[in-house]
Amino acid sequence: MIDKVKRLDCTGCSACSCICPVKAIQMTQDEEGFQYPKIQYDICIHCEACERICPALSGQKQYAKRLERPEAKAAWTKNPETRLMSTSGGLFTELATTFLQEGGYVAGAIYSETFQVEHFMTDDPADIARLRQSKYVQSDKKDIFCQVRTRLKEGANVLFVGAPCEVGGLHNFLGKSYETLTTIDYICLGSNSPKIYNRFLDMLRERYQSKIVRVWFKNKEKGWNSFCTRVDFANGTHYLRNRRHDYFMRGYIGPRKYYTRPACTRCRYKGIPRQADITLADFWGIARIDPALDEDLGTSAVLLNSEKGRTLYAAARSKIHSYDMALEDIREGNGALHASVRLADDRDAFFRDLDRMRFDKLIDRYCKKTFRQKLSDLRADIHLYVGKKERL
Ligand SMILES: Cc1cc2nc3c(=O)[nH]c(=O)nc-3n(C[C@H](O)[C@H](O)[C@H](O)COP(=O)(O)OP(=O)(O)OC[C@H]3O[C@@H](n4cnc5c(N)ncnc54)[C@H](O)[C@@H]3O)c2cc1C
Repeated sequence: MIDKVKRLDCTGCSACSCICPVKAIQMTQDEEGFQYPKIQYDICIHCEACERICPALSGQKQYAKRLERPEAKAAWTKNPETRLMSTSGGLFTELATTFLQEGGYVAGAIYSETFQVEHFMTDDPADIARLRQSKYVQSDKKDIFCQVRTRLKEGANVLFVGAPCEVGGLHNFLGKSYETLTTIDYICLGSNSPKIYNRFLDMLRERYQSKIVRVWFKNKEKGWNSFCTRVDFANGTHYLRNRRHDYFMRGYIGPRKYYTRPACTRCRYKGIPRQADITLADFWGIARIDPALDEDLGTSAVLLNSEKGRTLYAAARSKIHSYDMALEDIREGNGALHASVRLADDRDAFFRDLDRMRFDKLIDRYCKKTFRQKLSDLRADIHLYVGKKERL
């Protein structure tokens, strides 16, 4: 049964909970805030369906053909508003709207009314704005895999977007390939704890003495390269800090990773071939390859991993600026394509202190910067500022 799965292997994909015919498996939060399956033994009928579809216990199944050498692109949407509101080049929006035009459903992650991150499926183009943007916290999948299966069985087209492990979990859950299912994943640094994210928001509510009305990771007000976290409050104030200074990003993309899921340290979805039909990412390092392709407004790296992926991309092509690239160009700037994260050695102490300290104080204690790091941050900020002035 699913209780055999090791904490270090479970990605929390939720396939086990969705497959259970008697609803004996609930995804419940552990003390770090990550979801793991919990069996209600008095209900369980020992059918072992959960074990058979679990990617960690039975291996990841590959039901559809994926290219060993995907087509690589640098791309962004021709719609400036969409590009500004998206995390990278706005490719998700163009692919999803194209998909919906042909009839079907799109599933991805949204913010709930209380800014919790959860998966959601829709056939309404007006919902694309809610799905847009990266939310840097692990999404609550609820019963999204069951919803996808229901629509597929009805013969509908479904586009599912998620972390590579979520796409893998969905494939195992479905247990076969559906011609009407298209999947998009992203190059993923790692999934963060919802508990930590909530502590971050609590700290901001306390500091700004107001209700949060918008959370916006990788805001581009100061440029895509210096990506900022912006949080807006009901009293009209806002928090805006770039990736080197933002409290949440310091413990995630900084040299020491404190709140990424343990299974992300041995991610089985790294590298190529991919699980999804299309992989999206930031095209980090694009300016070194061709400065004209970095307007500091967001350039996406795109991998077309299958014929289905190529077809959807071709259908959206008229709405996208697209440039052929070498796969190695994406690889070079984006270590997360191949390498798993390494967690901070003092991560346990960090979590112990979480209940004793406010989040900003905790980050200041654990993600302390040396004088050299402060100097290098300052240099990088000046470089970005001067670079932007030169481009104007
Ligand atoms: C946790 C996380 C880690 C990432 N790590 C990297 C990285 O290391 N390197 C890199 O180049 N790119 C990374 N990305 C991808 C990148 O941030 C962009 O999402 C991607 O380039 C697509 O951008 P876009 O402008 O096309 O679309 P956007 O409009 O930004 O759309 C993002 C899509 O991703 C889905 N999504 C957002 N948040 C989540 C979530 N928490 N769980 C599941 N699905 C979600 C949304 O539903 C939407 O469909 C990461 C994204 C996430 C969510």
